[in-house]
Amino acid sequence: MHQSVGVIGAGVAGVACARTLQNAGRGVALFDRGRGPGGRLSTRRAPIDDDLTIHFDHGAPAFSAASARFSAIVDDWIELGLCARWRPRRAVWRADALHAIENEPALIVGVPTMGAICRRLAEGLDIRSGANVELLERIDGGWLVRMTDSDGQASAHGPFVCVVVAAPPPQALPLIALHAGELAEQLTKIEMRTTWALMLRIEDPTPEAPDMIEIEGDPVIERIIRDDAKPGRTPDQGHSRWVVHATHAWSAARRDHSQRQIVDELAPASLALLGRLAGRPIDPAQTRHAAAHRWGAARPMNPLSADCLFDRELGLGVCGDCFEPHAGASGVEAAHLSGLATSERLLKCLEA
Ligand SMILES: Cc1cc2nc3c(=O)[nH]c(=O)nc-3n(C[C@H](O)[C@H](O)[C@H](O)COP(=O)(O)OP(=O)(O)OC[C@H]3O[C@@H](n4cnc5c(N)ncnc54)[C@H](O)[C@@H]3O)c2cc1C
Repeated sequence: MHQSVGVIGAGVAGVACARTLQNAGRGVALFDRGRGPGGRLSTRRAPIDDDLTIHFDHGAPAFSAASARFSAIVDDWIELGLCARWRPRRAVWRADALHAIENEPALIVGVPTMGAICRRLAEGLDIRSGANVELLERIDGGWLVRMTDSDGQASAHGPFVCVVVAAPPPQALPLIALHAGELAEQLTKIEMRTTWALMLRIEDPTPEAPDMIEIEGDPVIERIIRDDAKPGRTPDQGHSRWVVHATHAWSAARRDHSQRQIVDELAPASLALLGRLAGRPIDPAQTRHAAAHRWGAARPMNPLSADCLFDRELGLGVCGDCFEPHAGASGVEAAHLSGLATSERLLKCLEA
């Protein structure tokens, strides 16, 4: 058997884990059912015409670093040109009024898109995209990864000495439940928020509205981000691009709606709100592009206070943003640190 590891999920957690293992000289195969690495840190392309393709960061719009360890990692990413600091004009919309948020630390964004971060970090890794892993099978004390590719072709890979599942609980559970009841039990406690994200391109630069607005007390919309205000974005003359996140309650109630239905309902509500934020109405006829994406497991509501789940006997790890490796670390930071922690445990296990 090869001294190798199979990693399921090429979001920021899986890529961090795989990269560290490979740098330590281990063989790693990374599987992701998406078209490339990134997961929730990805970017949607929208071709407008022959000469113009616009982009929207429809998952995480930006992130921050609470711990010294992740701050140092982010500094390296900035130095390498993967990321840049962003100081958006921030505000809260509360009781029909804008309240500016000032003196907040800068946020971090990928350049030229959020999707570029995992793409760059995954360079040189053995990654199989369009690989939907359906089953992890125990064989001779190791692991066989059974997957179906985007053409529906089934195949088995391995055996691997260890496997890491770097996917959110709803996708991780069916893979590990057969083998590790206690780990699965812990994952079932984590609830994930559903978020519908709306991507809007408007023929109006609307300079009056802030770049990132948290909406309080609205049943439909919880956050609006001006996507083209981030550093390193391609200018889009005379237009502005916005990503709107709907609330969990609104999104969960429309879990099975089509993207069209969501655009029809959320776009007018978003334009009306943007108009109020900008202090003048925005004509819906100025919409030049509108699309929606549903994140069924956008963010954990109750992450576990641990850096990962790990069963040394089985050689099985679970990582991702459903863990809180440091107090206050969430989202991208939690996912990355969790991926690193899993790789460190695996290396100890493989060296023993
Ligand atoms: C709308 C939205 C807003 C957000 N806002 C912020 C924010 O402001 N700040 C912040 O820090 N974070 C934010 N986040 C969260 C952040 O994006 C995530 O915490 C982080 O990207 C999670 O990374 P991950 O690697 O744990 O999981 P993911 O990125 O979900 O990666 C998991 C990967 O596993 C793959 N996968 C799953 N099941 C299988 C399978 N069976 N076979 C093969 N592949 C599989 C998926 O395709 C995916 O690529 C936001 C997320 C969303 C959706």
